[in-house]
Amino acid sequence: MHSTASDGVKTPAEVVEFAVRECGVTTLALTDHDTVAGIPEAREAAKRLGVAFIPGIEVSVEWAGRVIHIVGLGVDINAPAMLEGACSQVQKRADRAVHIGRKLESMGFEGILERTLRMAPSQNISRLHFAKSLVEMGIVKHTEEAFVRFLGAGRPAYVDPGWVTLERGVELIEEAGGMAVMAHPGRYKFPETWMMDGLIEAFVAVKPGLMRRGVEVVSGSMSPSFTPHAVEWCHKYGLLASRGSDFHSEGSHRPLPGAQGPMPDGVVSVLDTLNALGKVIR
Ligand code: AMP
Ligand code: MN
Repeated sequence: MHSTASDGVKTPAEVVEFAVRECGVTTLALTDHDTVAGIPEAREAAKRLGVAFIPGIEVSVEWAGRVIHIVGLGVDINAPAMLEGACSQVQKRADRAVHIGRKLESMGFEGILERTLRMAPSQNISRLHFAKSLVEMGIVKHTEEAFVRFLGAGRPAYVDPGWVTLERGVELIEEAGGMAVMAHPGRYKFPETWMMDGLIEAFVAVKPGLMRRGVEVVSGSMSPSFTPHAVEWCHKYGLLASRGSDFHSEGSHRPLPGAQGPMPDGVVSVLDTLNALGKVIR
């Protein structure tokens, strides 16, 4: 789940309170984009409410010229790899925001950079923040249109973020004692069909750390029709299976926390494994 530490709309404590009180969730992970800044607050809230908590992050990486998300679960937020790695990614977000802002301002959307920076108190700026500004300014009807017209790869306000490589992203999660999990694989759009399996093979091939790796077989941000394919990968590559909502806010078309599809049978779950390793905070 995401909070205001990246592009979610609830604070870390609010995310936890909402998931637990409104949605009946009993185990959750906060996985903000490229930062662990929200973890202490979320962990406190989870403790107060008596639910199990997994400190996490969602690292943006580059593979074959594409942006891929790798979730890190059970990370030590004070590990040097986390502090340095996450910090440099957030700096890239800040630099990119200035470039995106300039491009949009040169198209006549004056004041969009300042408005967008105000929207994100964490200063961990996402394209989603710009998409919301474009909606607020009446330039597009919804955020999806903002991505299609301006912010998506190859569109006029797209700026190459220069994310770390897939290999480095996995390493920094594992150096921080976390489990690397390929996020929402069904969402990646590749120009060639081999690339889908190529991606998971590259992920598995990153030099082995101490932890097994996993893949999201159920995600609120990918079609349930992809689940069988991800389950096949679990069998073929020995990957663990993860299930998450990818919650950002209420009122989106995505399922609420905990309301995504069930975990399929016949897989070994990331959660059971993290539990066995003592990586779940109670
Ligand atoms: P960023 O990591 O800042 O480049 O932006 C990624 C964020 O934008 C994620 O939270 C996505 O949910 C959101 N996003 C990416 N593509 C789209 C899209 N086509 N429509 C709506 N939101 C999107
Ligand atoms: Mn993601």
